[in-house]
Amino acid sequence: MVHVQVVRALEDNFMYIVRNENDDKVLVVDPVEPEKIQNICVKDNLTIVGALITHHHWDHAGGTPAFRKAFPDSQQVPIFGGDDRIEHVDKILKHDEEFEQAGLKIRSLSTPCHTRGHVCYHVSGKNGPGVVFTGDTLFIAGCGKFFEGSADQMHRNLNEILASLPDSTLVYVGHEYTATNLKFAESVEPGNQKVIDKLKMGN
Ligand SMILES: [Zn+2]
Repeated sequence: MVHVQVVRALEDNFMYIVRNENDDKVLVVDPVEPEKIQNICVKDNLTIVGALITHHHWDHAGGTPAFRKAFPDSQQVPIFGGDDRIEHVDKILKHDEEFEQAGLKIRSLSTPCHTRGHVCYHVSGKNGPGVVFTGDTLFIAGCGKFFEGSADQMHRNLNEILASLPDSTLVYVGHEYTATNLKFAESVEPGNQKVIDKLKMGN
């Protein structure tokens, strides 16, 4: 079973600590405030063995210099990403690469559009459903801005690449934008019952 701990960062960013249940080795996702993550790991006796960066924007990748300083051994604690604009990135991943770290199986899903080097990470553990970290590609009730790509690319990212994951996959997004996204969705499709129901859940 993959265990995911959610750690809030900056204004509305999410960082994540990922591990197999009952394992003390962890991967961290987008550790923009690495000290916050380290403090939790020290307190919980967890050992960080790698970082997964979704894309090069500062609010996701801006913590890599401090992360590298805290974990200078790039062999033991590599930084993974899909873009050479991520400082200190050790391994640049292409689409559909699989590797193991912290006893977890990680698969890179290249999802260019928000940025051209954006990667989502599908992570599966020894058993139980897999999880996916979608960065600024997919949010709850929305998707990321098309800074370096086209609507066609985003359509493929959402409706082909991410949609091909098993239905049981748990989704962990890059920002808490739910309420704003739902209000926008309501303005575009006022009669959409799913949007209405989800908005009610927040009240
Ligand atoms: Zn971004």
